[in-house]
Amino acid sequence: MNTVIISIGSELLTGQCLDTNTAWLSAQLVAVGLEPTRHVTVGDDLDALVKELSLAFREAAFVVLTGGLGPTVDDLTREAVARALGVSLDVSAEALGQIERFLARWGRVLSDANRTQAMVPADCSVLENRWGTAPGLTGRTPAGLFHALPGVPAEMKAMFEAYVLPDARRLAGGAVTLVDRLCCFGMAESTLGETIKDLMRRGRTPSVGTTASGAIISVRVVVQAPSVDQARELLEADLAEVRRRLGSVVFGRGDATLQQAVGEALLAQKLTIATAESCTGGLVAKRLTDVPGSSAYLLEGFVTYANAAKIRRLGVSAELIDEFGAVSEEVAGAMASGCREAAGSDLALAVTGIAGPGGGQKPEKPVGLVYIALADGLRVDARKFTFGEHLSRIEIRDRSCKTALNLLRLRLLGSG
Ligand code: ATP
Ligand code: MG
Repeated sequence: MNTVIISIGSELLTGQCLDTNTAWLSAQLVAVGLEPTRHVTVGDDLDALVKELSLAFREAAFVVLTGGLGPTVDDLTREAVARALGVSLDVSAEALGQIERFLARWGRVLSDANRTQAMVPADCSVLENRWGTAPGLTGRTPAGLFHALPGVPAEMKAMFEAYVLPDARRLAGGAVTLVDRLCCFGMAESTLGETIKDLMRRGRTPSVGTTASGAIISVRVVVQAPSVDQARELLEADLAEVRRRLGSVVFGRGDATLQQAVGEALLAQKLTIATAESCTGGLVAKRLTDVPGSSAYLLEGFVTYANAAKIRRLGVSAELIDEFGAVSEEVAGAMASGCREAAGSDLALAVTGIAGPGGGQKPEKPVGLVYIALADGLRVDARKFTFGEHLSRIEIRDRSCKTALNLLRLRLLGSG
C-alpha cells in the first residue's frame, strides 16, 4: 500500500533538529506491514505544504504527518490540510473543549493562540492530545486516509499508538512483518551483494538488502506473511541461506558486535587474551570490555605509544624498532608475542600503525598503514593493512580495531 510520511518544520530542513520522528514512524509502520514508499520533509511554508500534501493525498492510501500543529504563527499544518483537501477551516467546539480541559489541569486558561489550535478542516476529526495542547487530525483523502500528529516526539509517539496504529493494522490486512539482519565483516559490499544477488532481486519476498556502516555490512531480511509462524519460517530460511553463502563473513545477528562474537568464542574455548596497542590507544581493550563478563577472558591491555614503552612493557628490542620502524610487521609481531608473555595470556593482539592526519611518509609508510599481529602459543601472525589516506583518524582507528577483533574471531573459528 502506498504510504507516505511527511515531517513538517523549517528546523528539520536547516539541520537544527534531526528528524527522528520519520525514522521512528517508518519502523513502526514497517512492523505492521505498511512499508513507507516516500519520506517528505517540508518547511513552515504554506504554499510548499499545500503542494506536498495535495500530491500525497492523491497518490497515497496512508499518509502520516508530524509537526506544525502548535499554537505559533509558523504552525501551518491545519490550514494546509484544509487547502489541500479544498475544504473550509472552522473552530471545532470539541477541540476547544479538549484544549481547555488539558490547560485546566495545569491551572491555565485558553489563549488566542490556543484557539487557532482548535481549527479543524471540514469533514476531518479531532484526535485528542492528552499529552499536550495540540490536537491531532484525521480524515479521508482522495486516495485514502491521513493522520496529522504533533512534532514533539513524546506526544507524536503516544498519539501514534492511540490513533494511527489501529488504522495501520486494519489497512495492512493483519499481515505480520518480521525484520532481522545478519552482521558481516571482511568483505566488500559489492562482492557480498554479488554472492546473494538472486535473493536481493526486486519484488522478491522476503526482501533482502544490504547497508554498510563503518565497514560493517548488514544484510537485512524483511518478511510479510499472513501469520507469525509463516513469517518466522520464511525469515529463518533466508537467514540460513545467507549464512550458508557468506560463511565466516557473518559474525552475528541483530545488534551483534565483533567484540561480542569474540567474547563468546573466547568463553566457549576457555581462552584468555591481552592487548598491546599503539595507534588505537586502547580502543581494542575498551571494546572488549564493553561486553559484560569480559573479565572472564581479557587479562590486560597495554597502551604502548612511545617506542620506549614498547621496549620496556613488551620487551620489543630497540634494534628491531631501529631496523624496521615502530610501524612494521616485525614490531607488530614482537609486540604481540611480548604482550602474551608479559600478561600470561593464551592469545595476544597487537596493533601499530599511522592514524594520521600527520606522520605519514610516502610512499612506503602512508597514513592508514596499520600492522596487526595475533600471537598464540604456536605462532605469531602479523599482517599489513592499508586502510587508505582518505579516511579520518577516527575512521582509521575504528577500522584497525574492528580488523584486529575480526582476525581474532577468525582464528578462534579455526579459519584464520
Ligand atoms: P506542539 O504544539 O506540541 O509544539 P507541533 O506540532 O507544533 O506541536 P512542532 O512545533 O512542529 O510541533 O515541533 C515542536 C518540537 O518538536 C520541535 O521544536 C522539535 O524539537 C520537535 N520535533 C518536531 N518535529 C520533529 C521531528 N520530525 N523529529 C524530531 N523532533 C521533532
Ligand atoms: Mg510548533
